[in-house]
Amino acid sequence: MSETHIWWIRRDLRLQDNPALTEAIKGADQFIPLFILEPQLMENAAPFRRAFLINALIDLDHQLQALGSRLIVRSGPAFQALTQLTGETGSAKIFVTRDYSPFARQRDNEIRQAMGLFSTAGITLREPDSVLKGDGTPYSIYTPYKNKWLHEPPPTPADCLPKPDSLPPLPEYLFSEELSIEDSVPGFIAATGEAHRRLEAFTKIGLVHYQSNRDRLDLDGTSCLSPYLRFGLLSARECFAYAHIRLLQTSEANTRDEIQTWINELIWREFFTMILSYHPQVLDGPFREELAAIPWREVPADLHAWQQGQTGFPIVDACMRQMLNTGWMHNRGRMIVASFLTKDLLVNWQEGEAWFMAHLVDGDPAANNGGWQWTAGTGTDAAPWFRIFNPILQGRKFDPDGTYIGRWVPELAKLPPKFRHEPWKLNAVEANDLNFKLGRDYPERIVDRSISRERTLTAYQFARDQAGSNRT
Ligand SMILES: Cc1cc2nc3c(=O)[nH]c(=O)nc-3n(C[C@H](O)[C@H](O)[C@H](O)COP(=O)(O)OP(=O)(O)OC[C@H]3O[C@@H](n4cnc5c(N)ncnc54)[C@H](O)[C@@H]3O)c2cc1C
Repeated sequence: MSETHIWWIRRDLRLQDNPALTEAIKGADQFIPLFILEPQLMENAAPFRRAFLINALIDLDHQLQALGSRLIVRSGPAFQALTQLTGETGSAKIFVTRDYSPFARQRDNEIRQAMGLFSTAGITLREPDSVLKGDGTPYSIYTPYKNKWLHEPPPTPADCLPKPDSLPPLPEYLFSEELSIEDSVPGFIAATGEAHRRLEAFTKIGLVHYQSNRDRLDLDGTSCLSPYLRFGLLSARECFAYAHIRLLQTSEANTRDEIQTWINELIWREFFTMILSYHPQVLDGPFREELAAIPWREVPADLHAWQQGQTGFPIVDACMRQMLNTGWMHNRGRMIVASFLTKDLLVNWQEGEAWFMAHLVDGDPAANNGGWQWTAGTGTDAAPWFRIFNPILQGRKFDPDGTYIGRWVPELAKLPPKFRHEPWKLNAVEANDLNFKLGRDYPERIVDRSISRERTLTAYQFARDQAGSNRT
């Protein structure tokens, strides 16, 4: 009997180094590359993320066509779409890359029970259950996790699976929905060729300065690979392998540190994926239960100002507007705005988490939740709850000339650099000469930081006291 295999593509939009694809073509007489536009995915996707996904699918379809196949696209809940497709083709085996979000796990379990599912690793290099403590329990602190993670030998480019030379034929007369190309996402061409070009360029040039430049908002100091990793246009293994090669070629200790720092960031991605896999409840509340009772403020006007980049704090506004305009924000920026929302405005981090998911091109439940809980101090391994970033000092340090502010907050670009971080410090004559008026050209600050710090420390202490009294 002839075998039909479905490669159900989810977060692995690539032909190279794809274990699920490699398994799916083995022994297949007929082969169906399938993407399902699931309502859960499409309705909740940020417009930039959706556009990136659609354009990446079109790119993948072109690559499949070059191998004599094509992408089959269906809409609807996955269970329904797969039931229909397997009904059309007769029995078929379904191959996937494992996904660890609670939604994906529940969906996959139902499908596995009803029609079988062959799954492989591939979203991360090391699977969540492969890096555990000696007693078999998961880590909740990054550094020991990273040390254990680094125990296993690193991958080399030779470990990455090649792109197949040919594919088994597609069954005849299969219906596919047409995808229409979307407006491209600023700064991110959604194609695997672009993902590789970036990885090669970054590992050749940027990687050896990564540690030094990664926090500078005014420089291109990071790889900007996050959307490609989010949708798997690039595998985590390829990133680790390329970085490791550079490490092997380098004997100078400082340069090795620069490279190792990037590898460590990739391991943060694996860590947060593991955390979500073992602690799905983090999507509903704080990892550290003793901080569950923080009396967050309900201040819709402040939240709105933060969302729109109108807080009156230039570095915060620049970062928020970068995300609104491009779907991406620098990591340092993400930490600054998250600290501002949670600790200066005392607004629940879940508001920020949701806003990021609604706008980020790389929005990923595990990394996003991990980043928010880390900054709010409620997560695993979190920044100490009493650490509150000063947005002015952060801005001065990581955007020393105010170039980044000038780019994203154009109403401040005409101010001399030293005033871009604190436009309220212009005296009346200077402001008049520049035809600049605070409150008219740029908002007044929405919070008095001399009060907000105490307010936040009191609120966090309250939650800790509550937890303490509940225990006694
Ligand atoms: C509040 C907050 C929310 C975040 N939300 C997301 C998100 O939704 N999606 C997302 O991919 N990252 C998220 N991050 C992590 C980080 O900000 C981005 O991964 C990074 O800015 C992407 O830029 P890059 O590709 O140039 O990263 P690089 O610095 O070049 O790092 C390489 C890759 O490592 C991974 N990575 C780097 N830092 C982290 C980290 N701290 N946690 C997890 N993975 C990391 C990313 O895949 C990244 O592409 C968030 C961080 C914070 C503080």
